[in-house]
Amino acid sequence: MPPDQEALRKIPSVEKVLHALASSDSAVFTRVPRSVATGIVRSALADLRKRVAKGATVENPLEDVRITLAHFAATRITPVINGTGVLIHTNLGRSPVASAAAETLASVASSYSNVEIDLHTGARGPRAKFLETCLATLCRSEAATVVNNCAAGLVLVLQHLASGQKNEVIVSRGELVEIGGGFRIPEILEASGAKLVEVGATNKTHLADYERAITDRTGLLLKVHRSNFYMEGFTAEPDTSELAALAKKSGIPFMHDLGSGAMMQTDQLAPLEHETTPWETLAAGCDLVCFSGDKLLGGPQAGIIAGRADLIAGIKKTPFYRAVRPDKVIFTLLQETACAYLDAASGDTKGLPEIPVVQMLAIKESALLPRAEAIIKALSDSRVTTGTGTARCGGGTMPKSSIPSITLEFRLEEKHLEPFAHALRTGTPGIVGYIDAGIFKLDLRTIFENQDKHLINALKKGLNTKL
Ligand SMILES: *Cc1c(COP(=O)(O)O)cnc(C)c1O
Repeated sequence: MPPDQEALRKIPSVEKVLHALASSDSAVFTRVPRSVATGIVRSALADLRKRVAKGATVENPLEDVRITLAHFAATRITPVINGTGVLIHTNLGRSPVASAAAETLASVASSYSNVEIDLHTGARGPRAKFLETCLATLCRSEAATVVNNCAAGLVLVLQHLASGQKNEVIVSRGELVEIGGGFRIPEILEASGAKLVEVGATNKTHLADYERAITDRTGLLLKVHRSNFYMEGFTAEPDTSELAALAKKSGIPFMHDLGSGAMMQTDQLAPLEHETTPWETLAAGCDLVCFSGDKLLGGPQAGIIAGRADLIAGIKKTPFYRAVRPDKVIFTLLQETACAYLDAASGDTKGLPEIPVVQMLAIKESALLPRAEAIIKALSDSRVTTGTGTARCGGGTMPKSSIPSITLEFRLEEKHLEPFAHALRTGTPGIVGYIDAGIFKLDLRTIFENQDKHLINALKKGLNTKL
């Protein structure tokens, strides 16, 4: 079929579209720099022309391009209200950091700082000394250091400890997990150049399996926390302390990749199982532990490595360390996060640290219910009621977690559910909820109390819009 010349002619020029959009939808242009918008519009129009040339009919080219640009504008990173009940939501940026940490960051980031200067002597100073000391104190370890994320930490440790003549890493088949985003632990480990020696079976690995695999080429014994799934039934694995004893006897370093980085007794914080803390696994005899900064720790994206001082010192001399070292932004956020824990533990502040993830885990339903009732009263709409829900840790942590929570429930006609959810998501800030059994829900556990007012306004608007 020959291309419809008439339809092709109807596709407007880049200039025309930009002009039309600038006068009708200026909100998009405050979020997308003009030159970037021009590029998006140009390629959207080129796509349209291709589709029309292939015989597709395009009713409203201007609207098509507007939608493309609006979608792009919505990818600019901006705050979002998390009504999903998933505390560490990877798609929503994992852990929100403490607001005090963010305030400190604002002043540090927009200024020069003492990241690497000794203010007493005026000479070059050690990088991250304060932070590393705080983290070591928090982990009750000899030393600690920080890299860009836990995956980088793993690669770094392997590069240092499993290379050359001793490049073999022993790990259980039951722990070769995929950690999300399509990344798998074995592939990350192999990226370091180390050779994986898998032992045991998926469900059972015995101490003897590890013992048999140890040779004079073994550089590291590795335990990987199954953070995002659990096994039940016919399963077995040696205790951390048994592995540690074997590693010690064989003169091989032993690392535990914890992933989650829980610094609290999770079983006392919420109806959750106990998550191993760094000091517990170090006390069981691990030489090194590594974990993420933005999971249960509740800080920025980072990888923390803690343990034996001689090993940490060696790791920091690895050339790759320079490639994965964080900057002042991460240092500052992590430093303030670590201090929040240390201050709370030493009684400077009463009770729990002011870390959002910790607070959200600990908050009682009895504290959420009055908030829900106040919101419902303010909305006074018979379609909205309170309900109960299940919050989760998420982010590849504590897969068994199911924390009773309080929700706002919206009973709308089925055809209105998705448009309502869309309207909330694309507001400023966006509000993300979920649809469950034909009801739109917002879980209050993951919504900050100081967001309730905005929530009410946005919900009023959403409920009153003709959907
Ligand atoms: C999440 C996780 C990682 C990766 O951590 P990042 O900080 O995202 O790089 C590694 N190991 C385990 C066990 C994890 O749970």
